[in-house]
Amino acid sequence: MSYDLVVIGSGGAAFSAAIAARSKNKTVAMIERGTIGGTCVNTGCVPSKALLAAAEARHIAGHHPFPGIRTDAGPVDFPALITGMRALVEQIRADKYIDLAAHHDWYICRGAARFVAGPSIEVSLPGGGSQRIEAEHYVIATGSAPVAPLIPGLAEAGYLTSTSAMELDELPDSLIVLGSGYVGLELAQLFAHLGTQVTVVEILDRLAPAEEPETSRVIEDVFADEGIQVRTRVTVTSVHRAEGTVFVMLCRPDGNLEQLRAQHVLVATGRRPVTDDLNLATVGVKTGDRGEVLVDPRLRTHHSRIWAAGDVTGYPQFVYVAGAHGALIAENAFDNADRTLDYRHLPRVTFTSPQVASVGLTEEQAIRRGLDCTCRVLPLDYLSRALVNRDTRGLVKIVAQHATGRVLGVSLVAPNAGDAILAAVYAVKHGMTVDEMADTWAPYLTVGEGLRLAAQTFTRDIALLSCCAS
Ligand SMILES: Cc1cc2nc3c(=O)[nH]c(=O)nc-3n(C[C@H](O)[C@H](O)[C@H](O)COP(=O)(O)OP(=O)(O)OC[C@H]3O[C@@H](n4cnc5c(N)ncnc54)[C@H](O)[C@@H]3O)c2cc1C
Repeated sequence: MSYDLVVIGSGGAAFSAAIAARSKNKTVAMIERGTIGGTCVNTGCVPSKALLAAAEARHIAGHHPFPGIRTDAGPVDFPALITGMRALVEQIRADKYIDLAAHHDWYICRGAARFVAGPSIEVSLPGGGSQRIEAEHYVIATGSAPVAPLIPGLAEAGYLTSTSAMELDELPDSLIVLGSGYVGLELAQLFAHLGTQVTVVEILDRLAPAEEPETSRVIEDVFADEGIQVRTRVTVTSVHRAEGTVFVMLCRPDGNLEQLRAQHVLVATGRRPVTDDLNLATVGVKTGDRGEVLVDPRLRTHHSRIWAAGDVTGYPQFVYVAGAHGALIAENAFDNADRTLDYRHLPRVTFTSPQVASVGLTEEQAIRRGLDCTCRVLPLDYLSRALVNRDTRGLVKIVAQHATGRVLGVSLVAPNAGDAILAAVYAVKHGMTVDEMADTWAPYLTVGEGLRLAAQTFTRDIALLSCCAS
């Protein structure tokens, strides 16, 4: 069988490439060895955000700050919660993936793909046997999978990943989370809000180490308030399990050892591109140090008819990056569009409560690039929305170029920061200055107003938490 495009995988990157190619009237085959829809809908964005929303509802019921309102958080029916989440995932998978594929009318082949000389693809079919598929262009959109660090005893003790943690039959009474990137933080707070005793272990000196240090401090304070234990600047030296309990040995910064114990340990230390079974060497496609498929800025691999998209490329692991990649490849492959993407205004969101959202450069990144920058931090105590919510945990930080006032980066820690950051994305993308941001209408009693107030602090003398390096 021969097609214009063959896509390996059926996640966000693959779907986007297939839809774009079909809209150009190209014939498409999609090969999937697991569940249609890939990570985001099945084991990533959708189930995690569905459970986070439910867990937050319970947490707020037990902890809201409003006088005269009485609520309380009862015990959690975890199997019912998981069943409800699964039903939602199935519904979204049907509506947004399976029906969409049928609507655009492309061929879906179930099985594991690998390249053979040609290039061509051989699919190992689930019932045995194989099928050969050829195409004018190929897209590798095989995503990423959790990777566990090499810690003595960890594999033998057994550990949860983000995927298996959201498939548990019962709510754990205690959990140790290794890693404090966005997946680790979200899952730590999710289980804590459901009533699990959680400890987060981070090898670096603060939680959310990729974000601004002020952001880390807010999240550490929030976790402390919520009884989530945190250990930073520690290395895990060994793990073992005995009688249903996992023991995690830590080496602290002072050299002393500490033993933590919990019902489960959850590894959230990163995800590695999935390329192992693809036989890439046969077709001359190269991979980098982190296992990522090496691509040029147009997403073409070392083979002129093979492209790669999404998590497998080593670009930031967000579904909107995967989606943009897929569409870009269809244009470059079929229209010779020669298009590239600009990642400088790519937003990132951690769906904790409060949410962490940022765009552009952090202060440290700006300094490392030799940019002469100036920064302001506006604590949420200055924001009316936070005051009426009776929750002022959070901040707005703006990094701007000293000479021009151009906004280089923005960090927001606030309720719905993930929504409000979009205004900052526009500001960074279009090179707005802090004066222009300060002079832009902002609706009163919104989190977005915090952006305007923070921008105003560049010219008004308000005593704030920290001012910048220049
Ligand atoms: C817990 C969690 C929460 C997340 N939350 C968010 C969020 O809120 N927002 C956000 O933007 N991103 C989020 N992400 C990241 C997001 O899910 C990924 O960036 C995105 O799904 C990657 O899409 P992809 O198309 O590159 O790969 P995937 O969606 O992983 O698809 C790859 C597919 O390829 C298939 N495959 C692999 N090898 C083969 C083979 N040899 N043959 C056939 N098929 C194969 C796999 O089975 C898989 O279905 C989250 C991730 C996790 C783990």
